[in-house]
Amino acid sequence: VSPDRTVTRAPAIDVHTHFVPRGLVERLATGGGDWGMSAELDGSGPSAIILPASSGYLLPGRLAVTPAHHDLAVRRREMALRGVDVQVLSAPTYLYRYDLAPDLAGPYVRAFNDALLDELRRGGSEFWGLALLPLQHPEEAVREVDRLAPFREVLGVAVGTRVGSLDLDHESLRPVWSALERNRMPVLVHPNHTDGIDRMREHLLTHLVGLPGETALAAARLILSGRLDEVTDLRLCLAHAGGSFPLVLGRIEAAFHRMELGADCARSPAEYVDRLLVDSVVHGVPAGRLVLDVLGPERVLLGSDYPARTGLEDPLSALGLLGLDRAAEDAIRGGNALRLQRERLDAIAD
Ligand SMILES: [Zn+2]
Repeated sequence: VSPDRTVTRAPAIDVHTHFVPRGLVERLATGGGDWGMSAELDGSGPSAIILPASSGYLLPGRLAVTPAHHDLAVRRREMALRGVDVQVLSAPTYLYRYDLAPDLAGPYVRAFNDALLDELRRGGSEFWGLALLPLQHPEEAVREVDRLAPFREVLGVAVGTRVGSLDLDHESLRPVWSALERNRMPVLVHPNHTDGIDRMREHLLTHLVGLPGETALAAARLILSGRLDEVTDLRLCLAHAGGSFPLVLGRIEAAFHRMELGADCARSPAEYVDRLLVDSVVHGVPAGRLVLDVLGPERVLLGSDYPARTGLEDPLSALGLLGLDRAAEDAIRGGNALRLQRERLDAIAD
């Protein structure tokens, strides 16, 4: 046995992938739910979800649902090809539906989460899930956190950066953060909106320039408002390596010391990096190194954004290009995600 083969590597855990549960699409396609959306099935399963412009989604209309979005067997083949051991499944942002009236939001989110749970149970240990929450109805969101808390298949939740007209630091969401913290459910903070859409209609600029700024805005608001001081054990993971956040954090920090920002945080902004995680969905070695320099390898989780074409086709190869030592690479590969899962399972056992 060569020395290399005696070293066990952390499993590769991809925390940022998008998934459309078949059960939800079937329900929509047969006219179920009164949620202002419909769906299409073809011979092989779900083929599209149709969302009206009134849903507030960036790119409304007919959204193609491919086998990669809904078929665990297809995903398993992709995982084998890329060396990924576990995929963490969460909804595409067009399914967040923070536009629904509060009385519709609870039933909708439960339908999504139950359909996701069905798939996770079918999928076994290779798939973990991030549930949806009806954040426009915070009391209902807390009830949903408590309902899902006992399920080991559910690692945590995915949330958008904007809930209708509310930002994530809004007063009304405080009980939701506390409930997630209490249950040690990590939160993937995924941009679901950007302002200035009229200036970004061409060239997919909404996604290329708007969404990374949106993520930085959400993180800055959570820090400067003092929200993160209230939930010190909440695990927040910013999608797309934090978007623009790793780059603008130094700017925020400098301004904090020189100017009156009206900030309510207990510490200086840069110190909050120890409270945040990011995924590894960043393109190119220079940007990857910046993220690692700002956050440190213990705060980065492997991600791909699969099957989005803006994501990383081969997340482990992209990680390998950063030239990290074995311990740092292993932490990002899966060690950090395993720690989150362990905390979560301990909370279930308590
Ligand atoms: Zn994504």
